[in-house]
Amino acid sequence: MKTKIAIIGGGPAGLAAAIAAKEAGVEEVLIIERDRVLGGILNQCIHNGFGLHTFKEELTGPEYAARFIEKAKELNVEALLNTIVIDISRDKVITAMSAEKGVFTIEAEAIVLAMGCRERPRGALNTPGYRPAGIYSAGTAQRYVNIEGKMPGHDVVILGSGDIGLIMARRMTLEGAKVHAVAELMPYSGGLKRNIVQCLDDFDIPLKLSTTVVDIAGKDRVESVTLAKVDAKNKPIPGTEEIIKCDTLLLSCGLLPENELSSQMGVDLSPITGGPRVDESLETDIDGVFACGNVLHVHDLVDYVSKEATEAGEHAAEFVKGASKRDSEAAIGIETGNGVRYTVPVCIRKSRLRDLLTVRFRVGNVYKDPEICVYLGDKCIQRRKKQICAPGEMEQVILKKTDIEAMNSGETIRIAIENESK
Ligand SMILES: Cc1cc2nc3c(=O)[nH]c(=O)nc-3n(C[C@H](O)[C@H](O)[C@H](O)COP(=O)(O)OP(=O)(O)OC[C@H]3O[C@@H](n4cnc5c(N)ncnc54)[C@H](O)[C@@H]3O)c2cc1C
Repeated sequence: MKTKIAIIGGGPAGLAAAIAAKEAGVEEVLIIERDRVLGGILNQCIHNGFGLHTFKEELTGPEYAARFIEKAKELNVEALLNTIVIDISRDKVITAMSAEKGVFTIEAEAIVLAMGCRERPRGALNTPGYRPAGIYSAGTAQRYVNIEGKMPGHDVVILGSGDIGLIMARRMTLEGAKVHAVAELMPYSGGLKRNIVQCLDDFDIPLKLSTTVVDIAGKDRVESVTLAKVDAKNKPIPGTEEIIKCDTLLLSCGLLPENELSSQMGVDLSPITGGPRVDESLETDIDGVFACGNVLHVHDLVDYVSKEATEAGEHAAEFVKGASKRDSEAAIGIETGNGVRYTVPVCIRKSRLRDLLTVRFRVGNVYKDPEICVYLGDKCIQRRKKQICAPGEMEQVILKKTDIEAMNSGETIRIAIENESK
């Protein structure tokens, strides 16, 4: 089987990339999706709050996904469902597997990686105690409640205040469970401010910062968990233990971009994001292989996923039309200054820039009243005041092609957080 552009993953990123590639005039665009339906993680996110930026409406996850699925159908985007990609070679031969076709290969001219992310497992968290029933990742619990109609438990403690944990605190409460607390190791929440207000404050669910689970009691089923405060080095402080009786512990301790395929293929990955290091065209270090959505870096809002993936689809289309090949032009690096953990992209080539380039990033701490500053060489060209920057919210700056063109050779771009109140 052959195709022009193969897109791995049919979530919001894969769908937006496919639509953009088709609209750019590429005939053969193929989505490969392991699930039986398109839409990705949005299918289990039945709460509203999606699409405020894209559609200026508050949609549920499935409603948001449906708009893209309909559009992809209208444009005759081909989709192989129930099909998992198990390998991609550097020369873009994809090995996939399905019950219907067995193991088969697809040769592509360009590939868009859009495999999303998965939740950090309990094993990676080092929580002591037995392995009783009643411990779930928040996303698994969400799938049980929203798709399979099953209740994971009735007395709940949640470890981790990422968005999925916050959303599940509200969801379990609405389904009749008592959520006793959300414990967060860091001194700040990992989720969006609006989710803290709408999912915890509105339901009187306490958020316990600088707190972790130090023990889980119960052999067959969880009977209680012990929480304790942690010090500045995240070590539990003796004497601060609090035992909470519960039958369920939900873990919401971070998301990991799903990059086993990318890594097997030899794509250069960032140790900070866990996703591919990409340039201004969202192209990885392998020519014709692009990445977008949560596989690239974990996003807070799906609107940004769709926007980024549209760009990836357009660039993949330019690539297969031969309009955008990388030549020997040296790339200009984007450096992370004070407070900035990473940037996407990590470098740019002047000749391939569009008029405006969005650089997305996250900060590593909570900063009050900071300025987001952009330096080209030694010159500060942007200084934007914000009320707050927090690790749970993605930030972005927009660079102008005309500014980049005026840079001297050897200069780099730097983004930094400055002048925050102490
Ligand atoms: C609980 C929760 C609540 C959220 N709430 C909000 C909200 O209120 N507002 C908001 O804007 N955003 C929210 N988000 C974020 C938003 O849902 C994500 O940003 C978005 O779904 C990411 O899109 P994606 O396409 O990158 O990944 P996904 O949606 O995860 O899609 C990836 C797809 O790739 C497929 N795949 C992976 N590997 C393979 C393979 N090897 N072969 C074939 N297919 C593969 C998967 O099956 C999946 O369908 C929430 C997310 C979660 C988890």
